[in-house]
Amino acid sequence: MAEIKDVYTVNKTVYAQMEEMEHEQLVMCYDKATGLKAIIAIHNTTLGPSLGGTRMWQYTTEQEAVTDVLRLSRGMTFKAAISGLNVGGGKAVIIGDAKTQKTEAFMRRFGRFVDSLGGRYITAEDVNIRTADMEYIALETEYVTGLPEVMGGGGDPSPVTAYSTFLGMKAAAKKAWGSDSLEGKKILVQGVGQVGTYLVERLHKENAKVFVSDIAAERLKYVSDTFGAEVVLPDKMLDLDIDIYSPCAMGAILNDASIPRLKCNVIAGAANNQLAEEEKHGKMLQEKGIIYAPDFLINAGGLINVVAEFEGGYQRERAYLKAERVYDICTDILHKADMEGVTPQHAAIEMALRRIQDVGRVKLSY
Ligand code: NAD
Repeated sequence: MAEIKDVYTVNKTVYAQMEEMEHEQLVMCYDKATGLKAIIAIHNTTLGPSLGGTRMWQYTTEQEAVTDVLRLSRGMTFKAAISGLNVGGGKAVIIGDAKTQKTEAFMRRFGRFVDSLGGRYITAEDVNIRTADMEYIALETEYVTGLPEVMGGGGDPSPVTAYSTFLGMKAAAKKAWGSDSLEGKKILVQGVGQVGTYLVERLHKENAKVFVSDIAAERLKYVSDTFGAEVVLPDKMLDLDIDIYSPCAMGAILNDASIPRLKCNVIAGAANNQLAEEEKHGKMLQEKGIIYAPDFLINAGGLINVVAEFEGGYQRERAYLKAERVYDICTDILHKADMEGVTPQHAAIEMALRRIQDVGRVKLSY
């Protein structure tokens, strides 16, 4: 069994984090004129150029931004590998307020920094970065994907992410209850942004009993009005007695404080890096009898979509077809975890690492 260490990184230096998580490169970008502060992390390029979205967030400290981009890019490596994609793991974060700071010059300057890496990093959307921002980035670099459909791109990847998350949830439901039907299941979706809303739509069609929680009142109003979802206040959310909890907001939501309070059988959501500490919190969930569908596996739909676009000749139906594999892979991972007595997250990382190792070896031959 591979040794998979927790990568909980508080109070570690940047190089200590890079060493622990095995990153290749970290790039700090700054532009005085526009106020741009961005960090690009390249985790592993064994399978191909690193690819991952750009997130814009008001981080409290620079250290927090560095840790986030390092953890997110590592997750991208595993996501690509387990999904059978030939790209590596990378990610970018922009430190700042997406509501006030994003201008044409700001996004184009960021595009220049992406271009300076010569294709080692390909960018796309993530939290607070939209397809319109991609248009500006694309004026400065060809290493961008997730472009609007009018520009020949695949458009917003969120519906495909929601689709793979939905399938992963069904695979976990099958493991928990012997049937993958979500009809009548009480499901809490935390974060009803781009992905969460598409997921709620699917769950509503499946006749699940959907609860929603968000910090944005307008998002809650939209999903409750449109899909009849019941709104739960953020501080009451973890005490809810439900069947499935679906984190679709930010990471590290499964931690020492939250896990003891959870009353659910399955966790399956789109948020990246849900487990604050992979091994420790994965085991805590297992001990509580909660089935955890690994986040980087089941939210891979968006990556599958943007890779399909970057490869050329994009067809949305093909991206959806590829995303469908998530159901079988998730079923296999949950089975493998049971057989080997490890957590599903551990089993999934092991499977991803094996592919990177095997393909890396193949590439060595002339
Ligand atoms: P988004 O910004 O559109 O939505 C996030 C939502 O979460 C917002 O409505 C926000 O108000 C809410 N939120 C933030 N903090 C919260 C909190 N503490 N409690 C409750 N709600 C909170 O982002 P998105 O594109 O929908 O992505 C959601 C998650 O899924 C992120 O973790 C992202 O990294 C991950 N993800 C997204 C994609 C994609 O295709 N967009 C792909 C893979 C993974």
